[in-house]
Amino acid sequence: MSDAPLLRDTERTTGRSALQNNIQAAMALASAVRSTLGPRGLDKLLIDDDGRTLVTNDGVTVLESAKVEHPVARMMINASSVQDKIARDGTTSTVLISAEMLQNAWHLVTQDVHPAVIARGFRMAETHVHEILDEFALKSDKAHRLMATRTSMAGKGHHSMQVLLAQLAIEAAENIHVQTSEGIVADPTRVKVLPQSGGSIADTRLVTGLVLAKNRIHDDMPRTIGAGKILLIDGGIERRSMKSDMKINVTAPGVLDSFRNKEVELLAEQVEHLKTLGIRLLACKEGIDDEARILLAQAGIQAFRRVARTDLDLLARGCGATLVSDVKRAHSNDLGAFISSKNENWSGVSHWIVETEEGGATLIACGSTETVIGEVERSFADALGVACRMLEDDRLLAGGGATHVALARRLRRFAESIPGREQLGAEAFADALEVIPRVLAENAGLDPIDTLLKLVAQQVNGGEDAHHIGLDVLERQPANMIENGVLEPYLIVRQSIAGATEAAISILRIDDVLWAKQDPSMPNIPEME
Ligand code: ADP
Ligand code: MG
Repeated sequence: MSDAPLLRDTERTTGRSALQNNIQAAMALASAVRSTLGPRGLDKLLIDDDGRTLVTNDGVTVLESAKVEHPVARMMINASSVQDKIARDGTTSTVLISAEMLQNAWHLVTQDVHPAVIARGFRMAETHVHEILDEFALKSDKAHRLMATRTSMAGKGHHSMQVLLAQLAIEAAENIHVQTSEGIVADPTRVKVLPQSGGSIADTRLVTGLVLAKNRIHDDMPRTIGAGKILLIDGGIERRSMKSDMKINVTAPGVLDSFRNKEVELLAEQVEHLKTLGIRLLACKEGIDDEARILLAQAGIQAFRRVARTDLDLLARGCGATLVSDVKRAHSNDLGAFISSKNENWSGVSHWIVETEEGGATLIACGSTETVIGEVERSFADALGVACRMLEDDRLLAGGGATHVALARRLRRFAESIPGREQLGAEAFADALEVIPRVLAENAGLDPIDTLLKLVAQQVNGGEDAHHIGLDVLERQPANMIENGVLEPYLIVRQSIAGATEAAISILRIDDVLWAKQDPSMPNIPEME
């Protein structure tokens, strides 16, 4: 049966031309972020549909905001987003390595090596990467972890901001980590960031507990309370709002009054229920009516209203509470515990600070303008992600391309031991890793080939610590990266190579592309020999 009628509105590319087309898309994407890699990487100005601008040096941010429709390009963007989620860093490297693997694979395809064979070679090399990285990995101390956190902010902001944020990120990660049966888990989403305009970056600080720019709803409520129970309501303590088409027939004098009294009674019943639950602290997503406010103040309960859902979730996690939809349904099992809750006035704005059993911290991100604060927030998010990963596995690797150069050397030797054509795939994989030092050199205004040759030569003569020799981009010359404090978490490097390999292999496996639409848009395509 012919598939012609079925595929009438479908554009189809098969075999080699499909592969070529897909690899071009991957390379186009890599070329969009190439210039951002490393501390000498340049920034990109992103402008969205509404004309909002964002200056960033972050590969994944550039890619995620690009309106790319090509499915293969989207696969690469996904690989970068996964890296961002899992490791928070190494996103640009993932895309660069993956695209380089594909480009090298293409050279082999033109020499009649089958893509499936290349993919097998990639897989063999990748398994070996883990062993080699395990061997290279260094145990770290706190000073090393601080340097690795700082390296993750390379290219973002000033040196002094990096030092400050690295310290705060490590402190925050320590604050939120929990010991589980599977080891330490530190979830960066447990740290809240509260932007505060005015002041300078140097005022940025970490506060233990959750901070919200909120005031308690009645001045008679206690300003500070010690440990107690908290209830979180995903609603409010309000009169029922009347539907617009609702009517009340007033048939006798006093009916309206008794209707209102009944409503107040219902509010009072809710407060009574809260009193029997024995709570000292209350947070609602919606409003709290005046009558209830007064009764709560009389009951000595500290209460807050219009608390954002995200903050309620953070409170729930910190206090071990369950959100309830309304007061009447609240049960003693839904309550959580807090250590202290206080209202403080910071430069004229009231803030609510809650400390909880499960830890939790808030970064008060300061800066002179919104753009500066945005930069502080993004850099901190990277640093925190890295600090959290390092609590889970504190091993480190040398940065500045040192690990990649050493890995490539080792993998080329390993490739020689593969008897079949997969050897060529493994070699192509090894070569692809060198894209990192080459692009770091390029972005520092150095010759990429000369730099790579220098690095390899120094590693060959480098003795035991050879795999620590990388390109110090700030000094523009090869150096021992551990001594110079350019360190990267083991998990991030490993994940970025693994993610790049997955993406490259899945793209190599495609030999038939069916487009449901007429006009597939491609990003700018670079020339390919
Ligand atoms: P990614 O999105 O991949 O994390 P970055 O722009 O953050 O990209 O660059 C990370 C790379 O920059 C890593 O390979 C890291 O080792 C390297 N790097 C950071 N600081 C330095 C430095 N001072 N000298 C050399 N390389 C550095
Ligand atoms: Mg980075």
